[in-house]
Amino acid sequence: MGMRGIMKNFGGQRGEPVSVPDAEAAAARAGVLDAKQRLSMFDALENAGISWFWATDDTGVLTYLSPAAIEKFSGDRPVVGELLGSLVETVEGSESANRTRPLAFLLSARTTFIDQPVRIGGSKEGEAKTDEAWWALTGKPQFTKGGDFLGYRGSVKDITSAYHAEQASSQAAEYDSLTKLANRHRMSRRLTAVLNAYRVEKRSCALLMLDLDRFKQVNDTLGHPAGDELLRQVSDRLQQIVPEEAEIGRIGGDEFQIILPDQDDRGKLGELANRIIQMVSQPYSIEGSRAIIGTSIGIAVAPYDGIEPDELVKATDLALYAAKGGGRAQFRFYSNDLKESAEDRREIEEDLRDALAQGQLEMHYQPTVDAKTHKVRSFEALMRWNHPSHGSISPATFIPIAEESNLIEQLGEWALRQACEDAVQWPDGITVAVNVSAQQFVSDNLPKVVESALSSSGLPAKRLELEITESVFMGDVDATDLMFKKLSKIGVKLALDDFGTGYSSLSYLRRAPFDKIKIDQSFVRGCAQKDNSGAAIVTAIVSLARAMNMSTTAEGVEAMDELKCIAGLDADMVQGFIFSRAVPQDAVLDKLASGELCYEPVGPAKHRSARKTLFRRVGVIHEDHHYTAMLRDLSRTGARIEGLVDVPVGTQLVLDLGEGQLIVGTVRRSQDATQGLSFEMPLVSDGAGGLCTRHRVSPYMLAAAGMPLRSLPPGHYTIPSQQGTGSSTPIFMQVDVTAGSLRAG
Ligand code: C2E
Ligand code: MG
Ligand code: MG
Repeated sequence: MGMRGIMKNFGGQRGEPVSVPDAEAAAARAGVLDAKQRLSMFDALENAGISWFWATDDTGVLTYLSPAAIEKFSGDRPVVGELLGSLVETVEGSESANRTRPLAFLLSARTTFIDQPVRIGGSKEGEAKTDEAWWALTGKPQFTKGGDFLGYRGSVKDITSAYHAEQASSQAAEYDSLTKLANRHRMSRRLTAVLNAYRVEKRSCALLMLDLDRFKQVNDTLGHPAGDELLRQVSDRLQQIVPEEAEIGRIGGDEFQIILPDQDDRGKLGELANRIIQMVSQPYSIEGSRAIIGTSIGIAVAPYDGIEPDELVKATDLALYAAKGGGRAQFRFYSNDLKESAEDRREIEEDLRDALAQGQLEMHYQPTVDAKTHKVRSFEALMRWNHPSHGSISPATFIPIAEESNLIEQLGEWALRQACEDAVQWPDGITVAVNVSAQQFVSDNLPKVVESALSSSGLPAKRLELEITESVFMGDVDATDLMFKKLSKIGVKLALDDFGTGYSSLSYLRRAPFDKIKIDQSFVRGCAQKDNSGAAIVTAIVSLARAMNMSTTAEGVEAMDELKCIAGLDADMVQGFIFSRAVPQDAVLDKLASGELCYEPVGPAKHRSARKTLFRRVGVIHEDHHYTAMLRDLSRTGARIEGLVDVPVGTQLVLDLGEGQLIVGTVRRSQDATQGLSFEMPLVSDGAGGLCTRHRVSPYMLAAAGMPLRSLPPGHYTIPSQQGTGSSTPIFMQVDVTAGSLRAG
């Protein structure tokens, strides 16, 4: 139908007895303008583009549209009839469908609508957006006096630019302007939408939470623009690694979140997390400076760890917290125990505030001896905390907490003073080594604190050695160099601790005046074994140190073969349990008073990795019966259990490790109440040095078996047991095994 035809149609309708629009009626009542004048005003409005008009017939076919509006779509544009079709279609299919009602629906309902936004022309989804226009459509149905529907009349406003402005502001409301990733608001909406949909379809969804390690240091020292650039680069790297179906968001400062739909394989999730950690930890080049950060990752999977979005988010938070507490650059899966350990940690943090005042802290000293003569050269001061209810807490646990809660400066100062006071009582040639956290190192106070500890104790500066780790080099270059200068000026010695575990850039060694490198125990561990690269690395570090006029100490020597190997590799000094653990000052003084300054190596011939003895209660399912047994040993591929008597070799059992972790295994060895099982599918790393199953039994399946459908309740958790219900008969006798004693149960 041509444009002229439309107009004729429209004109034809005008003469008919219709219920006139309100505005017209009002004008008519006012009697100011006659019909001709009104028509010319209408034309003027239309031609000026202030308002356009449209009309349909009773079948919904467009019969009129202002020429100026049609002109917008002349040439290659679709003819008017098609235009209406596309209006309806795009409104229905567009994102705004939930805000606006479909035009076809509105028209068929024969009701009045006002400023209904519709998309005109433009391209279908997936095509480049060209010539897209948005109109606000107002329409009023027209009826005969008898009530027969005649069609619609209405007006059109072009709202394209207003619409685009609104889109841009909602873009700003949904996306992070810095990284262009989704923001917290969008991620939270997405997670809710995905979880709601997946709950119905019983699908799984993983949530990963990342927090950058040491980002604050870079931001503080290189400046905020550099921090921004770093975040952009991190986001680029994340987008490269993360699967396409995942959504990545930045939900705050240096926190990122990844929603990964349909993934519940903890083997794959662990691999992905490791890949992310590796990628994020590669050095960044920012405005000519080099920056190194890391990331910790917490992972939780719906529906196993939570069904509601807030439950799942809380679970990833706890897992992330545990990953950071575990020493950073690690990932953790959520497990029910984490709730408990998070509470423990909070308690530790609170108690740590008073520990010093309550006299619960103590310094112990571990000797470092000459690798050849075994004569003591120095003692390393290691902090000990005797907690009134938890007993002795490792510094590996409480030092990171002290660092996070700003207690480290206070603890560090106390350690320095105490160590100096103790060391003055030792013979002249013996030094004391004190650990200094990177956070103390960036504090301007450190030189003053060191000087004061020396002068009040009377210890000569050359007898104090400060042990620092490579993490101090993550800070501002100038400030770090200045601190090194100030400390050297005081005359204390400097040692680089745990060398080889961090980023081990040789430039660090050149930049700082170290007297000593401490080779991390991971290289010493098993360096005597064949095919171990530890020995090659130790050799390299030793020759490097020698070339730079630094001495070397091998840390963590425990076994005879390790000692022999380390001495053979020419390290200067050795520290490790093979000579002594850290002991209180009294024990040091006793040893020194004897005049015997050499230590005898005492230890196993070969290093044996500490075997975790597990005494954990697990469920064992055989046929229809649920037994309880003790887990004595667990490896990737098998386990040893105790508690069932005379189970034949070849029997298939299912181990229930709790929290929906079921493992199918076959009995390979069996003697009395002990069975060795091999697993059908190997376990995977849980990120914390432990093991977990790849997959879990979903709460939906458990719900089918009678459990309530919600996320797993806290505490040890087994699948519903049918024991005692009488519906199944046990085939094996179950015995109660407590700490090795056998009692018939
Ligand atoms: P570090 O400075 O590397 O200290 C050496 C750690 O290795 C000590 O653990 C020591 O007991 C342990 N070790 C020594 N020989 C052996 C061995 O043969 N085998 C094994 N398996 N371990 C051995 P500790 O005392 O638990 O301290 C852990 C970390 O806590 C220290 O690592 C240090 O980084 C930090 N730390 C301890 N005291 C302080 C302190 O006063 N201030 C600061 N800032 N950090 C401290
Ligand atoms: Mg140390
Ligand atoms: Mg160390």
